[in-house]
Amino acid sequence: MNTIKHFIKSFLFWELLKGLSVTGKYLFAKKITVQYPEEKTPMSPRFRGLHALRRYANGEERCIACKLCEAICPALAITIEAEPREDGSRRTTKYDIDMTKCIYCGLCQEACPVDAIVEGPNFEFATETREELYYNKQKLLDNGDRWEAQIASNIEADAPYR
Ligand code: SF4
Ligand code: SF4
Repeated sequence: MNTIKHFIKSFLFWELLKGLSVTGKYLFAKKITVQYPEEKTPMSPRFRGLHALRRYANGEERCIACKLCEAICPALAITIEAEPREDGSRRTTKYDIDMTKCIYCGLCQEACPVDAIVEGPNFEFATETREELYYNKQKLLDNGDRWEAQIASNIEADAPYR
């Protein structure tokens, strides 16, 4: 009986030491937590955040209203209406994304032949109302204008792997 008690005590002692050694190791290791929102962790160029509609450098919308993004969206989150302009080019008259439906799969971005719709680096778009998560064309174009520099640099960084 005494032998069993001794064995249990030794076992618990070694387990305690093992636990303390793990605590000690992480006490002095480099910290991996950051003081968000003042500090942020590095982000992959492939990060899929809030959507944006992009323009060309001359200000023209990239989107040619082909509707491939609308067709491929598994969540049916995208609604597009389009008509030809006077110059014969085809552009959207309505481009809505319902972010309450979106699952951030990135398929719209993958399907777009002209890199018009993209998921940008912005992940800080929490809202107080549901309505604010309905994005129309103007809001999406504004996102594109605001984030274009980073979006373009992310696409360039990812290009060699595609
Ligand atoms: S990320 Fe996916 S779910 Fe969201 S709009 Fe694009 S295709 Fe639809
Ligand atoms: S965003 Fe791209 S895929 Fe969607 S309609 Fe415009 S050009 Fe086509």
